[in-house]
Amino acid sequence: MPMLPLRPAVQTMKPYVPGKPVSDVQRELGIADLVKLNQNENPLGPSPKAVAAAMQAMVEVHTYPEGSSRAMRQKLAAMWNLPDDWFIIGNGSDEVFRLLAETYLEVGDSVVVPDPSFAGYRLVAELMGCEVVRVPLVADTMDLPAMARAAAETGAKLIFLCRPNNPTGAVFAEEAMRAFMPLVPSGCLVVLDEAYREFDETAFDSRALLDIYPNLIVTRTFSKIYGMAGFRLGYGVARPEILAPFYTVRDPFSVNNLAVAAGLAALDDEEHLNRTVRLTREGKAYLYGLFDRLGLRCVPTQANFILFDVGRPATEVFDQLLRHGVLVRPCGSFGLPTCLRVTVGTAGENRRFAEALESVMK
Ligand code: PMP
Repeated sequence: MPMLPLRPAVQTMKPYVPGKPVSDVQRELGIADLVKLNQNENPLGPSPKAVAAAMQAMVEVHTYPEGSSRAMRQKLAAMWNLPDDWFIIGNGSDEVFRLLAETYLEVGDSVVVPDPSFAGYRLVAELMGCEVVRVPLVADTMDLPAMARAAAETGAKLIFLCRPNNPTGAVFAEEAMRAFMPLVPSGCLVVLDEAYREFDETAFDSRALLDIYPNLIVTRTFSKIYGMAGFRLGYGVARPEILAPFYTVRDPFSVNNLAVAAGLAALDDEEHLNRTVRLTREGKAYLYGLFDRLGLRCVPTQANFILFDVGRPATEVFDQLLRHGVLVRPCGSFGLPTCLRVTVGTAGENRRFAEALESVMK
């Protein structure tokens, strides 16, 4: 069969390389009790209340979901004290990024992204045939004045901000954000991705910024602290003028009933959230101590993962850790070939990681 012509944007794109699923590693290496610390998931799993709600919703699975996830929008509206048309529910926050791109970007437009940061931003821009303008981090977080300048110089349509940043875990100050927004050219949308916000001890009131800046979109996810990555559920908050056109572009049933039922219950389980925050805080202290003992530089984090530098090709250390049954994230794809990123696990998982790393770095 002759080669089918691909869209030029797709020809040049490199696909997203996610962390390895446990089943693949178990099959490849024959390791049964793998410690999975590579995708920043909640080691406690989902709230039991979310699981129960999803099980209950199963009996309705023969019906199509209500397309706009109204129940979730109404719940969030009450939490955020905003009208429910300020919310778009997505199949993960990934879908919200893609909807933004598909709704607002054209071939040749510029999109400003921090570097290194979450690859999803770059990918949706590339998918639309856009120019990706990468702005290097400063002090492991976004260089906001440089990002505003880059947007002005290139006439960018979209800027992505990640707070706390993946993979560094670092944050910028609220004052920096408030100084940045007025510098953004009019007609340029700003995404503030708060995927790890619930772990952040320095989180600021992004809701207040939505009141002031009409070009701001805040995104959140159920994949991290809520332990629901497999359900695929996230959302965006912005003015209805920005979000309403998404429904023209969106798969009408992209978010399923089970995810919404689980998500509603998860939002009510504050105890599970608090337990996860406590576990993460204790785990971080333990891991900082480990890196200190081993003399490895790590980045102080406000998220549920830590980036650390092993001072040699990190894939070697990654492979050796894997042989000890510990799966972390090598950061070559972020342009950090000597760094690894480890998710904070349970106390037992952190200990397994520590023992493995100590043995490998000896
Ligand atoms: N933003 C950041 C910063 C992330 O790290 C991730 C997932 N790794 C996402 C968004 C995507 O999350 P979701 O599962 O909601 O699509």
